[in-house]
Amino acid sequence: MEKVVIIGSGPAGWTAALYTARAQLAPLVLTGKQPGGLLTTTSIVENFPGFPEGVDGYELMTRMQKQAERFGARTSFGVVEAADFSKKPFVLTVDGEKVEAETVIIATGASHKHLGVPGEHELENKGTTYCATCDGALPMFRNQPLVVVGGGDSACEEAMYLTRFGSTVYLVHRRDSLRASKIMAERTLSNPKIKPIWDSAVLEVLDVKQDKVTGVRLKNLKTNEETVLPCAGLFVAIGHVPNTDLFKPAIKTDENGFIVPQEGTMTNIPGVFVAGDCADHVYRQAITAAGVGCAAAIDAERYLAAENQ
Ligand code: NAP
Repeated sequence: MEKVVIIGSGPAGWTAALYTARAQLAPLVLTGKQPGGLLTTTSIVENFPGFPEGVDGYELMTRMQKQAERFGARTSFGVVEAADFSKKPFVLTVDGEKVEAETVIIATGASHKHLGVPGEHELENKGTTYCATCDGALPMFRNQPLVVVGGGDSACEEAMYLTRFGSTVYLVHRRDSLRASKIMAERTLSNPKIKPIWDSAVLEVLDVKQDKVTGVRLKNLKTNEETVLPCAGLFVAIGHVPNTDLFKPAIKTDENGFIVPQEGTMTNIPGVFVAGDCADHVYRQAITAAGVGCAAAIDAERYLAAENQ
């Protein structure tokens, strides 16, 4: 039986692995379908402390993995198909095999919601991005018109952040009022560099032939008029989907599916802990996920010590 199984291999998962490995608990990390998580899809990470020149997202995750493995973490490129938390030991089904665990740390992250329009996928990392904090400062966006899609707090936050880099930031929203909190909405709409484009949907991201974002084709949903808005970057901020379906309903989540820890990082099931974006709809940064991964490891270690007294 495993003492600690960590589901997920983003910054939260690897940091939990590093700490539980150093506590000599020989954690087993189940990487899931996308080893390294969302960060591996970002080109350069410039806001992870300790890398003044920035670090490639894939490299950062590989380094975290190596560091955890150096102290005895074990990696399995498995995908969890089912989780039974109804009795101890917990039982995970991983690619058809049963894995028993005394404690589990859920660090499955979240997925960006996509628009699902032509050109979006093809131009990912070529001007289409899902994280202004990660990518906004890249040279290709400097002094260029940029488009943010969405009307929530994330879209407002991204638009505000991007005013540091872009010439104009267009906020494209499908309705004529923002969903964001009042203070965020007011702050956003009063910023002279942000121009809202109401009642509009992105129909297509241009230009796949040029292999970079040059604009978006918009449709006004009230008049049906179509226009092309030139821009160098498209920042999609229409929400996140936490990767938690597998654990419901046993593990308590909020109405958006984010896991709600009950005490520290412990979920409603003692012995099951959570860290990172699958429980965080506010900060969603690599460094905050890593920090909570550390906390979850310490909580799991203390839980095991108390159980085995
Ligand atoms: P959100 O509140 O769910 O907003 C998503 C926005 O995207 C909405 O305006 C929605 O339009 C739009 N949208 C959704 N699907 C779309 C689609 N397919 N095409 C075009 N537009 C689409 O998500 P969020 O902004 O990521 O925020 C999530 C949670 O985190 C919220 O509770 C928020 O308050 C919180 N948050 C807080 C802060 C902060 O306090 N600093 C920062 C970020 C996030 P509709 O409005 O028409 O539905």
